[in-house]
Amino acid sequence: MNLSVVNHEDYFAKIGDDHKFPINKFGELANYLIKKKIVKKFYKPYACSEETLKRAHSEKYINDVKNKTLDQNMIKKIGFPLIDSVIQRSLVATGGTVLATKLAIKNGVACNTAGGSHHANFDGGAGYCVFNDVAVAAKYLLDRGLAGRILIIDLDVHQGNGNAEIFMGDKNVFTFSMHSKSNYPAKKSISDCDVELDNDMEDKEYIKVLKYFLSQLNEENFDFVFYIAGVDIHFNDRLGKLKISDEGIKKRDEIVTENFFSKGVPLCGVLGGGYNKDFDKLVELHSFLHQSCAKLI
Ligand SMILES: [Zn+2]
Repeated sequence: MNLSVVNHEDYFAKIGDDHKFPINKFGELANYLIKKKIVKKFYKPYACSEETLKRAHSEKYINDVKNKTLDQNMIKKIGFPLIDSVIQRSLVATGGTVLATKLAIKNGVACNTAGGSHHANFDGGAGYCVFNDVAVAAKYLLDRGLAGRILIIDLDVHQGNGNAEIFMGDKNVFTFSMHSKSNYPAKKSISDCDVELDNDMEDKEYIKVLKYFLSQLNEENFDFVFYIAGVDIHFNDRLGKLKISDEGIKKRDEIVTENFFSKGVPLCGVLGGGYNKDFDKLVELHSFLHQSCAKLI
């Protein structure tokens, strides 16, 4: 069987080549996955419906984004201009994660080629995140009885503060975030489990800590897992402050995906952040998620 991967050409938005966010990575990652024969053909998502979105976001926020009536300060906090292609990409990438969850339930594992917008909370976006795709998809699964107890395992270098806030006090969703202590956001929210790493942490120690917490998480009975596989933990990332190598990221993705797949827990992998100084390397690092999952199928 082939790995199910969701992609859409609208993941790219016209924010300009001089923008700090490497938006071209979405198209290049799709090309790379096909060229390397990791994926044969992509599943194409629809834009997420308002009905589905509003389980994780306020109607006011959704409408302010769609109608471009969002407050200037809130737009600034997001870091993208509020233009048609950004709105469209946010809706389609969220629809993409929802579709990937359905494919994960069917096949055991599935991925999006975007997603992991973990800084967006109920009332607004932040840090290049407009809609919180993972939160929306988790609510979608719970609403339909497709999952009862969900784990969000977030290994992006930044804390998953949006998910921490949206699911605070929600016993059905466990938020786990392992991130750099000194990276954004300066003021961290409280996840169900936060692991704060010191700057300059290298592979060996990182993998050791990861394995310890995975063994703890394995004590719980989750029936669905979202994996936010941010590659901004790489030593050559422009924003991340950890010092993990290519091999370290590859190993991390293999360990996490294998851990849940072998236990029969459906896993949906999403991209998370990545701002490597080397663009080709960035695309390759993001592909480790899909390569790890393809190996399991
Ligand atoms: Zn990040």
